[in-house]
Amino acid sequence: MKTYKIACIPGDGIGQEVVPAGEEVLRVLAEHLGSFKFDFETFKWGGDWYRAHGEMMPADGLEALKSKDAILFGSAGDPHIPDHITLWGLRLKICQGFDQYANVRPTKILRGIDAPLKRCESKDLDWIIVRENSEGEYAGVGGRVHQGHPTEVATDVSVLTRVGVERVIRYAFKLAQSRPKKHLTVVTKSNAQRHAMVMWDEIAVQISKEFPTVTWDKELVDAMTARMVNRPSSIDTVVATNLHGDILTDLAAALAGSLGIAPTGNIDPERRYPSMFEPIHGSAFDIMGKGLANPVGTFWSCVMMLDHLGEHQAAITLMNAIESVTENKSLHTRDLGGQATTIDVTQAICSIIKK
Ligand code: ATP
Repeated sequence: MKTYKIACIPGDGIGQEVVPAGEEVLRVLAEHLGSFKFDFETFKWGGDWYRAHGEMMPADGLEALKSKDAILFGSAGDPHIPDHITLWGLRLKICQGFDQYANVRPTKILRGIDAPLKRCESKDLDWIIVRENSEGEYAGVGGRVHQGHPTEVATDVSVLTRVGVERVIRYAFKLAQSRPKKHLTVVTKSNAQRHAMVMWDEIAVQISKEFPTVTWDKELVDAMTARMVNRPSSIDTVVATNLHGDILTDLAAALAGSLGIAPTGNIDPERRYPSMFEPIHGSAFDIMGKGLANPVGTFWSCVMMLDHLGEHQAAITLMNAIESVTENKSLHTRDLGGQATTIDVTQAICSIIKK
């Protein structure tokens, strides 16, 4: 029987509640289906590790992850540690170390979820946003000089490479081609950013020729926010740079009902390294330890992980169980206006799977 080796990295805050919940659901699912197994290993990296060791994860941490089939990640963020340390020291170290260059975020209004878009039926909002995940505004290029003096200068330089842009736009076209609507929107800002974003646009035209069955359009990132609210059904697959994608996917998650629901895959499409799956939300220290964390974003991330592992039937089974739970308002957590706890939702999903 196939055994998948999964690294679990709960990280900080509610990551420590939702990742064990995801592990439990995956274990129950594998036991129920009986056709594959999971071998989980948990790595307690994050803020507490930083306090004890002065780093968010060990210097050789990537070596320990390299042989895994996939990674289930919670969140990185701690109110007592600067955000750039928690982000660069753990999540980005893994994403960049394993060249997970496509950050893939599906958005749908799940059954039973009351989404804020009043002019929209749930079928109108079914998007998948691909965020470039290895360079752009998050390339880490820049610096500060004359710190604290009136002459201080600070720069963050956005870096786009032809290789980096071609591969993510090609990935997005391929993904669009696999979906029923076969439509891609390329998000840009080439009116104001007149070098790298112009190259981005040119590469989109070039790659589009490889995909004659995909229709596509181009949208400025500011106009895209309005289009997501006003014309959701005109959107199918989207590709955007690292920062644009970051912002648009938070908006997408909120439009679909809650930040607690949305999933992410940090994918290495070439499968040289393990890909990493995580809920879109952060560590949410305000609700940590209270049992209020909505685990649905993690469960949906597990669905993406199963699809990536090639276990498509298991992915469908888990997604159906998730929607049976969201359909039942008594199983909504506080972010959705309900009173259910993380454990209530987890147990409900497990018992639906067992049935
Ligand atoms: P970070 O700094 O790690 O990004 P954050 O606390 O600034 O974390 P998020 O965790 O992304 O930001 O979310 C903002 C707010 O949304 C949280 O403070 C929390 O109240 C709510 N929230 C986020 N995720 C969930 C969830 N899974 N369940 C319930 N509420 C959530």
